[in-house]
Amino acid sequence: MSDKMISTEPATGNQIWRGKVGNVDDALERALAAKRAWATESVSRRMEFMRRFANQVLKHAEPFAELIARETGKPLWEARTEVEAVKNKVEISITAYAERTGQKKLDSALQGSAALRHKPHGVMAVLGPYNFPAHLPNGHIVPALIAGNVVVFKPSEKTPAVGEFLTKLFHEAEVPEDVIQCVHGGANVGKALVAHPDIDGLLFTGSAPAGIAINKKLAGDPAKIVALEMGGNNPIVILDTPKIEDAAATIIQSAFTTAGQRCTAARRLVVLDSMYDQIVPAVKSMAQRLIVGEPFADPQPFMGTVIDNDAADLLLQSRAALLDHGGKDILAMERTQDNLPFLTPGLIDTTEIDERPDIELFGPLLQIIRVEDFDEAITEANNTRYGLSASLVGGKPDDFDRFWSETRAGIVNWNRPTNGASSAAPFGGIGLSGNHRPAAYYAADYCAYPVASTEMDQPRASIGVGLKDGTKPTRKVKDTHK
Ligand code: NAD
Repeated sequence: MSDKMISTEPATGNQIWRGKVGNVDDALERALAAKRAWATESVSRRMEFMRRFANQVLKHAEPFAELIARETGKPLWEARTEVEAVKNKVEISITAYAERTGQKKLDSALQGSAALRHKPHGVMAVLGPYNFPAHLPNGHIVPALIAGNVVVFKPSEKTPAVGEFLTKLFHEAEVPEDVIQCVHGGANVGKALVAHPDIDGLLFTGSAPAGIAINKKLAGDPAKIVALEMGGNNPIVILDTPKIEDAAATIIQSAFTTAGQRCTAARRLVVLDSMYDQIVPAVKSMAQRLIVGEPFADPQPFMGTVIDNDAADLLLQSRAALLDHGGKDILAMERTQDNLPFLTPGLIDTTEIDERPDIELFGPLLQIIRVEDFDEAITEANNTRYGLSASLVGGKPDDFDRFWSETRAGIVNWNRPTNGASSAAPFGGIGLSGNHRPAAYYAADYCAYPVASTEMDQPRASIGVGLKDGTKPTRKVKDTHK
């Protein structure tokens, strides 16, 4: 099998990067050798390295954004926001480390002191997805490095150039090369990392099928920390609202930002019967006006390509299957160029489909489900094994209280899109969306483990109860000489 890899720009089909599949054993050997020195650096020094990294991101912000735009096909304006998020992750992670995994010392004259401190796990493998090829792996890498772990990072095989660029910025910030390594390859290299005896943790962002496979593989090894950030089949529920245009814009942002390639993208628009004839035409007319174009076009497009032709083919086949099973096209999702993965936004009413497939269609296709009342809307919102994000649009505060308490998801919003979560909050889902190890602000939690200690500078102890008296014999000894 060839060990060569190439990456092409989805918007042009031109080659952007060429490289080789990495060697997992070599990378782990180097990581092991670097582990102790990095873990024993002071935490303030590790934070200083991360601040230097943020400066490197700032220094190279424009070429970094251009590379992300070229390799993913997303518009330049959006790639710039990704670079901004990479930089901002540093200060957020420093605050989160101190707040979530900081130190505590409680002094007491008699008992000595009780201390809580955290230790790194050791060698962390980070597996990244393609949709945010810099921001999402970085969301594991920065907290892992601050906590004192060394990292072996495998970027998505669809975005190796961005993965390599990100890693180089750490090295330019003088983080030692063996402390953060980039190893290229596809799922097989990911599997080799998962199976490697020398990893202490596996931090994954990607699809539910891959995450479940990883979970099964590591289920018998409780020593390894496993954080799985997976996909969603997210609902956006529409109740009564007079603000139709704003509601439509919220739905569009939820479903079609990043060409629908966000884990938090709305996949299902659950709309009250009474609102259907106002909301659906408004969404349709706005979706028809969205500019789909290449990343550097002027004026800038709302959305670019999906990641590659295979992804576009799969999405078009999925749409056809929904139509075959009783779905009705409201707005056809179409490919605008034969050999390139540009798709227009699609709306499909799937109310009449008896058993809608509970799968994540990772692209610009929004299903619409008509419901009679709020009860039915909540049932429909929860009609998924996933549980990443959910939004309610319209309604009153009491409605949101109910939606919040009855909807099963890690992110529950009101009159806001399902996506665009803040890095300053925890980020994760339930069900098939994660394994209860939320990332973003709570990433600090899975990057270190707590160690509780009680301490005194000298041993000082006595046995208060149950000790035989050392001066007098407790059993009478018979005087046999009498
Ligand atoms: P993917 O699951 O195909 O791949 C993710 C990474 O895992 C890649 O590096 C890949 O090579 C590797 N991989 C794949 N199968 C593997 C296996 N069996 N063992 C080990 N490694 C394996 O995901 P993708 O297509 O790159 O990304 C899109 C998916 O990611 C969507 O499902 C999306 O919802 C999800 N996602 C989730 C979040 C989140 O934070 N919850 C964020 C972004 C994307």
